Amino acid sequence: MADKDLNQAGYVIPPEMQSQVAITTLDKVYNWSRRNSVWPMMFGLACCAIEMICAQASRFDLSRFGMEVMRPSPRQADVMIVSGTVTKKMVPQIVRLFNQMPEPKYVIAMGACASGGGPFKEGYNVVSGIDRYIPVDVYIPGCPPTPQALLYGLISLQKKIDTENLKTSPWYSKKKSEPIPVPILGPDLMTPAKYHVIKQNTLNSQQVDSSPDAVISGGI
Ligand code: SF4
Repeated sequence: MADKDLNQAGYVIPPEMQSQVAITTLDKVYNWSRRNSVWPMMFGLACCAIEMICAQASRFDLSRFGMEVMRPSPRQADVMIVSGTVTKKMVPQIVRLFNQMPEPKYVIAMGACASGGGPFKEGYNVVSGIDRYIPVDVYIPGCPPTPQALLYGLISLQKKIDTENLKTSPWYSKKKSEPIPVPILGPDLMTPAKYHVIKQNTLNSQQVDSSPDAVISGGI
């Protein structure tokens, strides 16, 4: 980190001590360490994933940003790059993986499909953007976005992390964060606004499953 970026705690450092002493805030050091080790989750959905793979190769080299460690487990990942067409069949899995990621966690919608449905928006099997189900931090336009565009999106995410504050970030509040209800493939995916109904359906199906004389049904 450059001196001018680090020394912004409101104290003036005498000229003779500059380059030897740094005065900064805990937020700045903490955000600096996190922004340079944002590990993406290793999964792709469609053609955009090929561009994401290219971005990891030597020509573009995400190691420069500390993002080269693609994790096969959501429990070790910091950012989910939704790269590709989001079908209704995949949404429950994506939401479940998002819930399994530890906080702080971020989501990037890579490409037109993940951002808003893309060329398949009117398709019977495609949702109009992953942001209808999980919160998205950065949108990357394009069909497909180039590896350079993904790099720009990741740099934008780093800028967002730079502005986080230990006192105001939702990750560090005492309030327990609730997992997002996992939609059930079927009518749920048509009405994401009715999460309370989805939640009730999930609770009901869990109660039926746990009863001793439960009958295996085909779901909704
Ligand atoms: Fe494929 Fe274009 Fe959709 Fe990306 S945005 S997954 S390139 S159709």
